[in-house]
Amino acid sequence: MNSTGSSAPVSHIGVLTSGGDAPGMNAAIRAVVRTAHYHGLMVSGILEGYEGLVTDSVKKLHVRDVSNIIQRGGTVLRSARSESFRSVEGRSIAKQTLDRHGLDGLVVIGGDGTFRGASIFTSEHGVPIVGITGTIDNDLGGTDTTIGFDTATNTAMELVDRIRDTASSHDRLFFVEVMGRTTGAIAMHCGIAAGAEFVMVPEKKQGIPELIHVLERAAKNKSSVIVIVAEGDEEGGAYEVARKVKERFEHYETRVSVLGHVQRGGNPTVADRLLASRSGVAAVEGLLAGRANEMVGIVNGKMVFSPFELVVQGAKPKEEDLMRILRILSI
Ligand code: ATP
Repeated sequence: MNSTGSSAPVSHIGVLTSGGDAPGMNAAIRAVVRTAHYHGLMVSGILEGYEGLVTDSVKKLHVRDVSNIIQRGGTVLRSARSESFRSVEGRSIAKQTLDRHGLDGLVVIGGDGTFRGASIFTSEHGVPIVGITGTIDNDLGGTDTTIGFDTATNTAMELVDRIRDTASSHDRLFFVEVMGRTTGAIAMHCGIAAGAEFVMVPEKKQGIPELIHVLERAAKNKSSVIVIVAEGDEEGGAYEVARKVKERFEHYETRVSVLGHVQRGGNPTVADRLLASRSGVAAVEGLLAGRANEMVGIVNGKMVFSPFELVVQGAKPKEEDLMRILRILSI
């Protein structure tokens, strides 16, 4: 028995990617499709997330349909933010689509919104669903990290490395904006890895006075300074933060760089491909074992299942610890 009370084994599962795309989603799709076939299940891909269930965009996937995608960013199933799936009527149409195709289980790859939708759908229609982490934000409970986060952070770090080369040649103060509307995980990890002087994240109110203090110290002995700003920081994005402080630091030329969507693209790293492969196998085998309404994550190196309701509460804040490390290392 699983957490929804269903004990029916699955025979034909669907897989979809939903919400913002993340590098490694393709590796997860491949793992789901191949694991399903390995265990004698039929598997179909649903296009454009939950929207594909509403519009009946479903196609059978065979083992060779997922050849040559493990290394590609984005998602071959495409992703979407489906408004219709948010309504009772939309989800009822989605259930009819599942029935028409004989789908009796789902693997959904996405972020917290995706799992909220899955949880509601299961409670209304009893469909067993297992989730796989697919978000660059690393903002989910029940897992230490998410598929796409490592790649996105590496991309941001490489770009900041390049900015450092030019910044240190010209006594420049750079404000670099990275993705993260509600979470500063990319900003914090990339900040430490690229040796930034200061990081501003939505989870922690530090404010302009603390930034000015750090910049005043750096101005005495550093040829370049890099401040990483998560896009959702309450002081505003990188342009706004730069505007608030630049007059006080005329010694430096001030520049702003918004990294934007390059952080979502690119070939997934080894860590993301491995996590995606492990998650795909675990998700299908979880469905076969009667699991439902749960997401598979990685905790201390092991694959673990957690209920969607816990997952959507978000990750435990780790930023305080990392802030301290950054403060020590950026003197
Ligand atoms: P990311 O972290 O990359 O933003 P996400 O999964 O959180 O990914 P969302 O756009 O929040 O992205 O959610 C994906 C989809 O899940 C939505 O477009 C919608 O179809 C569905 N969804 C989200 N919340 C709900 C809800 N409360 N009820 C029904 N469906 C929902």
